[in-house]
Amino acid sequence: MHRGSKPAVVRRNGIELDTGDVPYLLDPARTVEGAVNVISHAHSDHLPRGGRETRVVSTDKTIELASHRTGRRFTGISAPGVSLLGAGHIPGSAMALIEDGKRVLYTGDFCTRRKLYLEPAKPVRTDILITEATYGRPEYVFPDAVELSGVIRDWVSDAVSSSIPVFFVVYPLGKAQEIETVLRGLPLFADEDVQAHNRLVFGGCDDWIGSIQEAKDAGSVFICSSRRSLAAVPGAIRRRLLFATVSGWAVAPGFKNAGGFDEAFPLSDHCDYNDLIDFVRKCNPSHVYTVHGFTESLAASIADELGIEAEPLKRHASGRKRGQRRIDTYP
Ligand SMILES: [Zn+2]
Ligand SMILES: [Zn+2]
Repeated sequence: MHRGSKPAVVRRNGIELDTGDVPYLLDPARTVEGAVNVISHAHSDHLPRGGRETRVVSTDKTIELASHRTGRRFTGISAPGVSLLGAGHIPGSAMALIEDGKRVLYTGDFCTRRKLYLEPAKPVRTDILITEATYGRPEYVFPDAVELSGVIRDWVSDAVSSSIPVFFVVYPLGKAQEIETVLRGLPLFADEDVQAHNRLVFGGCDDWIGSIQEAKDAGSVFICSSRRSLAAVPGAIRRRLLFATVSGWAVAPGFKNAGGFDEAFPLSDHCDYNDLIDFVRKCNPSHVYTVHGFTESLAASIADELGIEAEPLKRHASGRKRGQRRIDTYP
């Protein structure tokens, strides 16, 4: 990359970064041989669905989880100038810092909040920042995660001691393990999907969580990825049960009722609006691209509040920019 010039960044096959030398594909939908393929974390919208290349730049944990979730065998490799930094989003999640003339930081999904089970993401100085914008509007501000964890634990403990079972419906990777960590010591039972992810995340040390069929007492807590798993809960226990979930969207009024939950806690694995603005300020980039979520709104806020050039990274509809190599057919 030439000093002073801005690298070409487009959204097409994931995020394509062309520094003039090696093409970098960040969370590509299809991996490409000859490119540096980076997988930030193992949530399905960030995993490659195709492509022949199985050697990817990713953390060991993400390699394991990605292989389990896609049924493909990925191998982790390193690439010169690419560093993986903890993203604090889910186990294995990483931000990618690419140093090729200019410094480019891709956050993937990230979280800078202190939590019970993951180290938070830390800002680093960068020239170009490509940041997610999931909660990039000012109304999305979350309470302190550790304090909220205490509130959740108290609410569940009260139900359990009154012999009322609690049924959490949560995403099986990340949310499930976070809520299990928050509720550790209570009688926890998970469905098969969550158990399969538990084994990988906790490295086999998940014997403190039973399977649904093992629940005997009404004071039980179920951690499941779908309401369909309710069918496996023993009938005698199923009657008085409370439904709960955790999600950043729970700060929106109406979320709880729309989802049919008795309680919804705004525990998120993403940054809230203030965290995003604070992170951008500390990275102090000269240019920001926003991706995923409230991209327009966050870019406008970054420009207004921080005086930093920012724009949503638009999807590249077809073809290529003049003079730009077509990197999806790179040798
Ligand atoms: Zn994610
Ligand atoms: Zn995502």
